[in-house]
Amino acid sequence: MSPRLYPLVLFCSVFLIVASSCLPNSVFSATLCDKVLSSCSAFHGSPYVRSIPPGRSFEGRALPVYVVTDFKTNLASKVRIFVLAGQHGNEPNPVWSAVRVMGKLATGTDRRLLQRCLFLIVPLANPDGFERRQRRNAQELDVNRDWGSFKAPEARFIDQLIRMWRPHILVDLHEWTTADSTNRNEIELPWVPSPDRSRLIRSLVRSCASKLGIPVAQSREGSNLMLFHRYYSARGYTALLVETCSLAGSAQKRHLYEGFVLSLARSAPSVQYLAVASPSASEFRLSSACSFLLSSPAAVGKGAVEELFILVGIALGFVAYATRLSHVDACLVPEQNALLVLRKLRHCLLDESASRPILISLFTLRLDKRSHGCFF
Ligand SMILES: [Zn+2]
Repeated sequence: MSPRLYPLVLFCSVFLIVASSCLPNSVFSATLCDKVLSSCSAFHGSPYVRSIPPGRSFEGRALPVYVVTDFKTNLASKVRIFVLAGQHGNEPNPVWSAVRVMGKLATGTDRRLLQRCLFLIVPLANPDGFERRQRRNAQELDVNRDWGSFKAPEARFIDQLIRMWRPHILVDLHEWTTADSTNRNEIELPWVPSPDRSRLIRSLVRSCASKLGIPVAQSREGSNLMLFHRYYSARGYTALLVETCSLAGSAQKRHLYEGFVLSLARSAPSVQYLAVASPSASEFRLSSACSFLLSSPAAVGKGAVEELFILVGIALGFVAYATRLSHVDACLVPEQNALLVLRKLRHCLLDESASRPILISLFTLRLDKRSHGCFF
């Protein structure tokens, strides 16, 4: 190695070690959010799945958005269905159900559905809360009481998404977590001032709900409008909340969420009909929405801090490559294992004999198709 490179290597190494020692170990280990994201990444190869650049939570975790449809058919004339899960971090079943709905659609077996509908799926609306298994986000805010005040970055991102895509139908998935016997499976329709709209929305939901045996309730006039479905209903969308009983098992819950979303999509009436129930959907502009559509799903799962570590690791790897080490036997490290490699690196940099293969490993990381931050 050229002596001129020593200060650079030294600087990078010291920076990485000092910075990594300041971070909690949870940053470097596979997290709950990583599990969800890696499950989603299994569908990245599907021609029916694309994404837009992800949002970021308060702590910088990725907030991915998937667009699932048959992209060869006219996107402008489709029924747009927005599926939101995970606003409450202690409700895992909606999150996994949203992932499973995406998986079912990604196979393309229901081609007619994909030709007719465009799904926008946000499986993990509150990743910080999900990671902590807590209802609230990292700011201790209840995201589903934040619609209108928009103090949570998660809510702000989703609001921008909705204003861009103007969905005809919004479905928010939740589950009761308190173990009292009063709660039940239920679909809540918000109170809507127009009787015509109210009737249309009710008829849209009723048959799907009764097929699955889920009662439909309607919120009262004057109820808290800071809940997602009520907020968007008041703004001219067809928005509803699906809630499942705390006593129901995971399999039953997931059956209800998946069954309801797919059945609602299959039975959704024409765009013209839906325009009456969701007047705000008519403000959709395909060109502006599609300008953010990525040609293939974005690799997500790393927050800003992790991105920084990967970049520093790449720099170290480049220096190692420049030294033309003979130990080029380190296996290729897939991008999604970057955090694992960085964790090893933290240990290995302290052990000179082990550091060289790790540096080579880092050099093999690929950062292509990576997108950064929120696009708004
Ligand atoms: Zn909830």
